[in-house]
Amino acid sequence: MRNVTILGSTGSIGVSTLDVVARHPDRFRVFALSAATRVEELAQQCRQFQPRFAVMPDAGCAERLRLRLKELAVNCEVLSGVDQLCTVAAHSEADMVMAAIVGAAGLPSSIAAAEAGKTVMLANKEALVMAGRLFMEAVHKNGATLLPIDSEHNAIFQSLPANFGDGLNKAGVRKIILTASGGPFRTRPLAELTSVTPEQACAHPNWVMGRKISVDSATMMNKGLEVIEARWLFDATPEQIEVVIHPQSIVHSMVQYLDGSVIAQLGNPDMRTPIAYALGYPERIDAGVSMLDLAKSGKLEFEAMDVDRFPCVRLAYEVLRRGGTAPAILNAANEIAVEAFLGGELAFLDVSRVIEEVLAAVPVTEAQELADVLRADMQARVAARERVALLRLQGQAAE
Ligand code: NAD
Ligand code: MG
Repeated sequence: MRNVTILGSTGSIGVSTLDVVARHPDRFRVFALSAATRVEELAQQCRQFQPRFAVMPDAGCAERLRLRLKELAVNCEVLSGVDQLCTVAAHSEADMVMAAIVGAAGLPSSIAAAEAGKTVMLANKEALVMAGRLFMEAVHKNGATLLPIDSEHNAIFQSLPANFGDGLNKAGVRKIILTASGGPFRTRPLAELTSVTPEQACAHPNWVMGRKISVDSATMMNKGLEVIEARWLFDATPEQIEVVIHPQSIVHSMVQYLDGSVIAQLGNPDMRTPIAYALGYPERIDAGVSMLDLAKSGKLEFEAMDVDRFPCVRLAYEVLRRGGTAPAILNAANEIAVEAFLGGELAFLDVSRVIEEVLAAVPVTEAQELADVLRADMQARVAARERVALLRLQGQAAE
């Protein structure tokens, strides 16, 4: 019986994780759950899964949860604050931690789980983007097991030999090929992208996800973040990582070997597959997904990526080559720009513009410790908010 902690349990990945866990009561016990604001949803999850701890970073939310659990007669200790979240992520009785908080907010608890030597199932790609080197050091120093949840990285993990940690060259790997659906705007004329709405951006053709990652998929910053994620997970150089458009999202990613072989992982687009892979690892367990039937799924298409249409992918490669705190700056600027777009304050095409301007304005330093990363993150947020406000004023003046 393995004790599982789920950080971000009310989100898209969190709910899918609980769905898989519920199919295997003989294997998994929910040890702790955590969410930001959805008190009632978390209360219902606690009622169903009876965890020992429930954590809400905000004290007010935590108090409401306490009262609600009392009403429901659920016996579960409610904690609050980021420190408590980290304590629970590192708790000695938890075996596995699903890190599924969205954005930079997930970094402290993801690192805490790695430092405690847990099996970390990492969905929170932003943690690796911001602090890849420090995160991987925490994993290696403390004997943690890192299992990627992002479907592409999970596919690559499945397509690599077990000894890939000794180096990709030694393992005979030539390239990692990340597939990208191209999002909802792959074929839309560029001129129309000026006026797209958050609802249109969040309507992904193949996946149902949280709003932040949905917008990231529409700008293709999601693929940019995934390039950086792959760099750290597999110790790959930027030249060893390639992106190819595959609109059907059936081939989740591929590894090309020196002898010309390409090994891929395929499946229907359902995050419960990579989640079940990680939960059961190294065994295979039922995920509750519908089985892929290639004869019925029709054509699988592949095409080159259009960098002019999606400048965010170019920016991601640039920060990767620059190193230091540059990826943290890109990530923070993106979070602010996406939030502004979702709030109706920023036009879709200005998301990449804000990020590019922030990258030009905020100084890049070495990322030797977490404080360096957090400082860059904060500076980039301030700079991004200024840019958003400026663009808004210019937009109002033009009207
Ligand atoms: P979501 O918005 O649906 O859920 C986010 C979860 O994080 C919620 O439970 C929320 O309560 C919690 N949260 C948000 N802000 C928080 C804060 N400040 N402190 C603590 N908790 C907080 O997001 P999602 O789509 O489930 O994505 C989660 C992560 O997984 C992201 O990093 C995303 O990039 C990654 N991911 C998601 C998918 C997907 O299919 N949804 C696929 C690959 C990777
Ligand atoms: Mg992905």
